[in-house]
Amino acid sequence: MKITILGSGGGEGFPAAFCSCDHCNMVRRAGGKSLRTLSQTLINDDLMIDLPPDSAWHSVRFGVNFGDIADFLITHTHSDHFDTYLLRHHGMWYAHNMKYPNINVYGSSDVRFVFDKVAEAYGGVNSAIAESVHIKEISAYETRAVGKYSVTALPAKHAPKLVALNYVIKENGKVLVYFHDTGFPEQEILDFIKKNFGRVDCVMMDATMGTANTPDTANHMCFDQDKRLAVLLCEMGIADEKTVLVVNHFTHNNAETHDRIEEIFAGTGIIPAYDGMVIEI
Ligand SMILES: [Zn+2]
Ligand SMILES: [Zn+2]
Ligand SMILES: [Zn+2]
Repeated sequence: MKITILGSGGGEGFPAAFCSCDHCNMVRRAGGKSLRTLSQTLINDDLMIDLPPDSAWHSVRFGVNFGDIADFLITHTHSDHFDTYLLRHHGMWYAHNMKYPNINVYGSSDVRFVFDKVAEAYGGVNSAIAESVHIKEISAYETRAVGKYSVTALPAKHAPKLVALNYVIKENGKVLVYFHDTGFPEQEILDFIKKNFGRVDCVMMDATMGTANTPDTANHMCFDQDKRLAVLLCEMGIADEKTVLVVNHFTHNNAETHDRIEEIFAGTGIIPAYDGMVIEI
């Protein structure tokens, strides 16, 4: 399984568009891996996780033709993960000769709700486009065949007013656990992963709270929690020395340059993500 991180920033992007804090100015000067767009990950070349407003830029920068993709997973409907307006460009004169004129968009019940509400605000979606976007509800602990993948949804500890999901994606015996966005996972979730998947090949962990000291009740994770989760996963046998452990979704309030984040995780076996990073498992 090839995993390409198209965007590794938190909600506001990093630097945040309107922000002149020390960290944003620092990464503007540093450039390169320190510049982070909104959260999106491509699995092989045919399964996309999330549709942020930066999707169009990811398509340009990384040469990804979204018309070649049939299946999309949405973690939750925060605007840095789900830009409903993007889907209004799926068809008519906005998109020609798509490999997949019909697409499946999987997520919680929020996805249908937000898609319809935004469409309503703009006077509705053209029926040709609406009929080509098949929104499919998936519930926590449910497993679905999605293309050639087996996808299991997990409950995320994230936005209390939304139904946010994390995912386990399995293909050819390889397993990716995608913890975005979430606070420190509850033991029952880790037990579920252990019972149903055993050892996994890659775990992508939320790192939004960075250097802040964050309680386990929070809706995002900090660096110390990422390190603790990595140890716990190894103790439980979910991860071992061959499991690729990645931290991702960095924000200006709690992180500095990419080099500095690498220093913080040096010696832990945990790799900080950056835009364009490719992981092969
Ligand atoms: Zn987010
Ligand atoms: Zn800032
Ligand atoms: Zn979120």
